[in-house]
Amino acid sequence: MTSTKMLGSSPSVFPITTPSRSRVIQELFLSGPKSRADIARATSLTKVTVSEAVDDLLGKNILEELSSNRELRPGKPSIPVQLNNDSFSFLAVDLSAAKTWSYSFFGFDGQPLDVVNIDRRGLTGQAFFDSLAQKLSELISQSDTPVAGVGVGSPGVINRKGKVISAPNLGWEDFDLQNLLQTTLGVPVVVENDAHLSASAIHTFSSSGAYILLIRIAGGLGAGLVVDGVVPAGQGNAAGELGHTVVVENGRECACGKKGCLETYVSSSELEVDLNQALGIAAIKESASLLGTAISPIVGLLNLNAVVIAANEDLRSDQFLQQLSQTIAERTLPISHENLTVEYTDFAHDIVLRGAAGRVMGQLLGLGQ
Ligand SMILES: [Zn+2]
Repeated sequence: MTSTKMLGSSPSVFPITTPSRSRVIQELFLSGPKSRADIARATSLTKVTVSEAVDDLLGKNILEELSSNRELRPGKPSIPVQLNNDSFSFLAVDLSAAKTWSYSFFGFDGQPLDVVNIDRRGLTGQAFFDSLAQKLSELISQSDTPVAGVGVGSPGVINRKGKVISAPNLGWEDFDLQNLLQTTLGVPVVVENDAHLSASAIHTFSSSGAYILLIRIAGGLGAGLVVDGVVPAGQGNAAGELGHTVVVENGRECACGKKGCLETYVSSSELEVDLNQALGIAAIKESASLLGTAISPIVGLLNLNAVVIAANEDLRSDQFLQQLSQTIAERTLPISHENLTVEYTDFAHDIVLRGAAGRVMGQLLGLGQ
């Protein structure tokens, strides 16, 4: 095993703390290669400020010049520059699945490379942390490009410093995951709730708008909100806790101890039914109808742009989506649902990874949430 990673290279480059540098990076991230003059026009920064920022970022290898024309001297304002996708990588980690965890490397373009799943059955608590930290250490030391930072999406309640307050499935309680990983790995680490990161990914990588409710259907039901472009964490960092809202009086028993929780009617096991059978369609419609009933007040309250459902392909069906839209339409005013999009997202298996990569990248590049 050889290590070509330039250990210690990241901290001197990241985080980017100069607002003008961050504006330039953001502009190039959002709209692709641009000349210095075009960046100045788009950002309203002066040409001198943009040139200084671009030269600095070229020197740090974060940007590269696009032109292959050797006669143009470097630094000439008309040469387009772009984010250098091969210079640094970001490692994203998703701990939300029941039996596995997954990771992927990302470049500045925010697109995942191969997603790798790793079995974690039988591992919880400190034992799971040790195995996770060891694997991430290996990945970082073996990476061809320096890993600038690690973003982790964890289930459970996570505070703003990346401490896991409670994640029963992983056996973590008051577990300082972000600090522990950062100390072990020697690179910046960001840990956030998986559903919050999913909502953040939809906001960053799709055109769903600034008011989004993201529902993630997997082993359970998670939700994340985007309100005015921001993902609110809530006073106790538990915003989006929708799955354990009671929707059926004296309904099905839930693992949380209550009866009739939404999650017991809308989760992967509930939606894995045979759509060719009348009973299957009825079950799908009941699930969609209960979900629609639960989220209609949120749609009305926040005047949402979009309700986005993240579910693996085998759990998606037109019947579910139609019933969900219909229930929301029946239960809200036209002003609330006429311009509302209700859709599945194609980002399903990698949505948490995308959100985690986006979050650590945003933090290191000085971009807003
Ligand atoms: Zn419950």
